[in-house]
Amino acid sequence: MRPAGRFAPSPSGELHVGNLRTAILAWLFARSTGRDFLLRVEDLDRARAGAEEEQVRDLAAIGLDWDGPVVRQTSRQDLYLDALARLGSGGLSYECFCTRREILEAPSAPHAPQGAYPGTCRSLTPAEVEARRTVRPPAVRLRAAVAEWSVTDALHGEFTGVVDDFVLRRNDGVIAYNLAVVVDDAAQGIDQVVRGDDLLPSTPRQSYLATLLDVPVPQYAHVPMVLNADGARLAKRDGAVTLRDLAAAGVGPAAVRGKILESLGLSGESLTAALADFAPGQLPRGPWTWLG
Ligand code: GLU
Repeated sequence: MRPAGRFAPSPSGELHVGNLRTAILAWLFARSTGRDFLLRVEDLDRARAGAEEEQVRDLAAIGLDWDGPVVRQTSRQDLYLDALARLGSGGLSYECFCTRREILEAPSAPHAPQGAYPGTCRSLTPAEVEARRTVRPPAVRLRAAVAEWSVTDALHGEFTGVVDDFVLRRNDGVIAYNLAVVVDDAAQGIDQVVRGDDLLPSTPRQSYLATLLDVPVPQYAHVPMVLNADGARLAKRDGAVTLRDLAAAGVGPAAVRGKILESLGLSGESLTAALADFAPGQLPRGPWTWLG
């Protein structure tokens, strides 16, 4: 297996300019370091019929290429269940019966950061677990031995964030993103994770989980978001922001790619030219505002 970078979209809808910019960055990071570039569809949750095809079409339309077939998380259930079983047999997980509302209303544990799971089900006796199972199916949570963890990011430097007893498997049986992403990156030989900086706060959890599963922690680069004219994160409702909308407005995929590359301080002429100039240290550190 060759070292690889990746782009891992959730097929919840068409990609917009912000997603495409992240994809281009992930491609530039991978290709400029001689890595393979993989495309993984994160369809465990939030999948919309047809979205995967649209996303693949649009990534190809802006000139990105990737190695090997597109991998879908829904076809990798065995890997996740295996990791879950390993954590369980190591005493590193427990069943949780809390509803969302119970978690919100529970008094938080002393010194626990805001939003952290208060640990309600951490020490249930086997009899209590048995009784609760008759009421509702359990989620599975990590039994974290730390409250925070540090990661190193190519753009943010050292980042320390909360690790709580986060969910590994939801109570509807769906494997949680934080588990799937760690298992997949390790199994696919991905040692470079480039993605939007909205995911930086989740990264200490993932890095800690990788350590517990005894798999390598990848290099991280969390790249700035694209904002709309109001300074909020770009979304589909912000007018012409997908390749399809932009093409209808007379802006073809090459022109969109050119604008994105120029926003990164690179030549907008071609991906090859941009790749030749690419230097992570020179990337703009702040968000980019898309004004159409
Ligand atoms: N599927 C996630 C998203 O589209 C990205 C996950 C990742 O890159 O780790 O937000």
